[in-house]
Amino acid sequence: MRNALILLVLLALGLGLLAGALLLGSPKPPAPAGPNVVMIVVDTLRADRILAERNGVPVMPKLAAFAQEGRLFTNAISAASWTRPAVSSLITGQYVGTHGVVYGVSEDDTGFIFAHTINPRWPVLAETLAGAGYQTGAVVTNGHLQPGANFEQGYDSKRYIFEDDVPADRVGVLAQQLLRSSSAPFFHYLHYMDPHAPYKAPQEYEDVFGPEPPITDSDREALDPDNHIRYISDQSLLRLGQRKPADAEFAPLSEAGQAVLRQRYDAECRFADTQISETIERIRKRFPDTLFIITADHGEEFWEHGGTGHGLTLFQEQIHVPLIIVGPGVTPAVVDNLVESVGIYKTILAYLGLSEPVPLQGSDLLAESPGNGAAYSMTRGPSLDYPVDLDAALEVSGKAIRDNGRGMTEIYDLAADPAEQQPQTSDAARWNQALDAHHAEAERIRPPQIQPVQMPIDEEFLDEMRKLGYKKEE
Ligand SMILES: [Zn+2]
Repeated sequence: MRNALILLVLLALGLGLLAGALLLGSPKPPAPAGPNVVMIVVDTLRADRILAERNGVPVMPKLAAFAQEGRLFTNAISAASWTRPAVSSLITGQYVGTHGVVYGVSEDDTGFIFAHTINPRWPVLAETLAGAGYQTGAVVTNGHLQPGANFEQGYDSKRYIFEDDVPADRVGVLAQQLLRSSSAPFFHYLHYMDPHAPYKAPQEYEDVFGPEPPITDSDREALDPDNHIRYISDQSLLRLGQRKPADAEFAPLSEAGQAVLRQRYDAECRFADTQISETIERIRKRFPDTLFIITADHGEEFWEHGGTGHGLTLFQEQIHVPLIIVGPGVTPAVVDNLVESVGIYKTILAYLGLSEPVPLQGSDLLAESPGNGAAYSMTRGPSLDYPVDLDAALEVSGKAIRDNGRGMTEIYDLAADPAEQQPQTSDAARWNQALDAHHAEAERIRPPQIQPVQMPIDEEFLDEMRKLGYKKEE
């Protein structure tokens, strides 16, 4: 009798819970108290610009000052040297070999043209935070991130604002719009396209570093913002042997022309510095309880290794990225440890006390001694127009870059040769083993239901990629 009663009570309790669940849907977690999180990605910003000077004038004084309020990482590495795989790593918390977003524009044997994109089954950062009760919003300005490419996962469509390649002041306006409709706690992802090429900062920022050196007419043509992407693309195809010197569209820039290009890039950095700082101040004024993470998807080369642009090499100027974390409870420090920006996702969850939806890669950047003592990066080139097949591994002072196309691994002693000008081959077998182990592990941990996705691409998208220099002009 007593057992039957207990059974009845349990049954009623079970039915009650079932009815409650049916009425309420899946139980919602209680809204977290905060803090808010703002992740700012500055496209193509080299790590060395934050503390740089040109002609005695600081390039990014405001972000340099902001970094003093929290952590400035001096040795942070991106998982890739161009946008699509690099941003995929930031928002999945996985290496490129795991999320599999490798190519921007590619074609298979049957003539099917596609771009790799994020499998919607990856629990991306915005989805995880939305699931934990955060209101999510984004302002993105790089064509790779346009809606439909799966980077908008985790955002209400009205709060995923895409405007193509707009200047930093416009990003500020859109970020403010987003802020006005925000309630705490929120997660905002702001993607700035300055200083991505073409470099065309407003005149007042171009004037900050003084007059430009005199240049030739052919320099002027290559430097014209309307031609600049085509110039980079032309030089890249020449560099990779995909275009004969006789077919070159532009003459190479003179030394003065190169100096002008560097100066205009710095003007873009200065413009971004001012605009980003204003956005940060506006957010902090209304929501002081906010964690800011500022980084870049990749850097930019200025002839350190024979060319300009990004995506075609894995030298430091392309994969060493700025990284700044400022927020409540983050004590100020300069962190020289070797760390990876792929760890940003893990860091945010650890900071907020949330659990990882799947095991995330990289390390908690706010841990006492962050970093795993190693970092990895790769590029297969942004499109098949640029045959590039490179992997890199870094340790505390050593670095290996493996060219899979040429079957060659070059090793650099970053302590003795930070400019990576003296390649060695002596320890190649050990580095190759480390790279092979990294790739095997990256594939092994990818859940079987989350395979890389090939997104068919149309003429409009191809045009977008041509405009960004990720696809050559036909
Ligand atoms: Zn980029």
